[in-house]
Amino acid sequence: MGRAKDFQAERRLDHFKAGAREAGVKLTHQRLEIFREIASSIEHPDAETVLRAVQQRVPTVSLDTVYRTLWMLRDLGLVTTLGARRENVRFDANLERHHHYVCVRCGLVRDFGSAALNALRVPAGVKEFGSVIGAHVEVRGLCARCAQERSEEPRGAQRPTRKTRGRSGHA
Ligand SMILES: [Zn+2]
Ligand SMILES: [Zn+2]
Repeated sequence: MGRAKDFQAERRLDHFKAGAREAGVKLTHQRLEIFREIASSIEHPDAETVLRAVQQRVPTVSLDTVYRTLWMLRDLGLVTTLGARRENVRFDANLERHHHYVCVRCGLVRDFGSAALNALRVPAGVKEFGSVIGAHVEVRGLCARCAQERSEEPRGAQRPTRKTRGRSGHA
């Protein structure tokens, strides 16, 4: 679960490798494993989640290396990010135009496409804040799994739905 289709992951990985080579970035074993992880995930993981996954194959990898590699991919335009840089930024290897479903409880993020949403216009007033690079719609809700868990919890023991940003989702 939570993995991109193989052909999709392979295509993304090839794209990362080509982009890195073009930029003169050395393709070390650690970098390749980090690339592989982000390319094959549909979870929009944060750096710590990527670290935990890569550590299973490369125990010596550090959070610092993961951060630097992910931000390098970002700077090369090979992944995009969700959230503000100072917060728990999550990385997205899907570069096709898409929108997000976000669970307000566990932080699950899923991609979906919509021609209707792609056609939405950004109001002119937004330009007063700064330039507009792109726009996507974030649909928020309680994911099927959280809704299920919640209905099984005894009354009064329900966890709050607010302030559950990010972290690693369903591990
Ligand atoms: Zn959820
Ligand atoms: Zn996405």
